[in-house]
Amino acid sequence: MSAAPLPPSTLPRPLAPLLPGSAMLGVLGGGQLGRMFVHAAQTHGYRVAVLEPDDASPAGAAAELHLRAPYTDSAALAQLRQACAAVTTEFENVPAAVLRELAATLPVSPPADAVAVCQHRALEKRCFVQAGVPCAPHRVIESAADAGSAAAAALLPGILKTARLGYDGKGQAGVAAIAELPAAWAALGAVPCVLEQRLPLRHEISVIVARGRDGVWVHLPVQQNLHRFGILAVTQVPPPDIDAPTAAQAVALAARLAQALDYVGVLCVEFFVLQDGSLVANEMAPRPHNSGHYSIDACDVSQFDLQVRTLAGLPLVAPRLHSPAVMLNLLGDLWFAAGPEPRTPDWAAVLALPGVHLHLYGKAEPRRGRKMGHLTVTAADAAGARATALRAAALLGLPAF
Ligand code: ATP
Ligand code: MG
Repeated sequence: MSAAPLPPSTLPRPLAPLLPGSAMLGVLGGGQLGRMFVHAAQTHGYRVAVLEPDDASPAGAAAELHLRAPYTDSAALAQLRQACAAVTTEFENVPAAVLRELAATLPVSPPADAVAVCQHRALEKRCFVQAGVPCAPHRVIESAADAGSAAAAALLPGILKTARLGYDGKGQAGVAAIAELPAAWAALGAVPCVLEQRLPLRHEISVIVARGRDGVWVHLPVQQNLHRFGILAVTQVPPPDIDAPTAAQAVALAARLAQALDYVGVLCVEFFVLQDGSLVANEMAPRPHNSGHYSIDACDVSQFDLQVRTLAGLPLVAPRLHSPAVMLNLLGDLWFAAGPEPRTPDWAAVLALPGVHLHLYGKAEPRRGRKMGHLTVTAADAAGARATALRAAALLGLPAF
């Protein structure tokens, strides 16, 4: 006699791989990260559905199906569940409850609980501490009393960051003296915040790890990042100023975090390298990351390929950097280099350089600070990649690095 079928909520997580070409994959969020996931999934023969309310969606434009609805819309979620064999997210601020609900009947990665941790700076810091990963001295600021406390004063000069919804340096304020803290907290909306000590940075790096349901993990080579005005501007791989032991330590710490979160999917961990050479974790992104875009053109497996593989339960192989690379972020500011009227940058001049890979995200309207695309320069050696990237930067009116 055959066993009675299990009720849906107690079904085991299906572990059989979703073979290439066999299914539709879903992604929550419709920005450029989703678009590059769509491209990688389609390369493997999958069809893709994007859930994104915005009509003008870089990922929606590339996908077979664009569900135009809020991430919490129950009819759209039902459609996604029906159409897709597995679901991922390109965006850490999708409600964790939605991921949890989808995970009752579908393979979903990353896991809702891990996303919830990455959505909240205070939980993220607690995760670092519990995993034994060094992070900046910090204090949660949730009340006027916190904002005037001696414990907060001891962290200054510092940076006050909203616990939720910060990105590209938004939702942050520098605080030099305790007298400034109450006003800074009020200016951020008096919402829960984390006050961090401002650390003496020598460099910034990031590590992307991918972990499968079976706990097997791989990583991309360590990236060195330069930020301008709180936004990533340049990524260089191999990292020119980072020694091998430091890079190996960063990878080990990122893997430890992935394990602590019982993570499935692609996780990026940003680190500071302090003046004394020590590593401090800054923050995590439960998804591919801007600093990993170079992997599309410079590695034999990209961060988006890894996202597809972890979602579909396909084998993970260690990515190999086949060419040194420099990535330049292309912000909307480039369109305004000559004045208030937007003007298309001289792509032809840039594409005349060797080893240039131009990625535009299909966003119609350039705006200052908006990520419009990126450009990866690959070359036979790091010096060549850097020299060409500097020429491309000069042609586009970007500062040297
Ligand atoms: P992202 O776009 O990476 O999500 P974000 O808005 O979440 O950015 P953070 O990564 O927290 O912001 O900070 C942005 C930048 O500000 C960092 O890359 C670093 O250059 C600087 N910064 C942040 N925290 C500190 C700190 N404690 N000490 C020194 N510099 C810091
Ligand atoms: Mg950051």
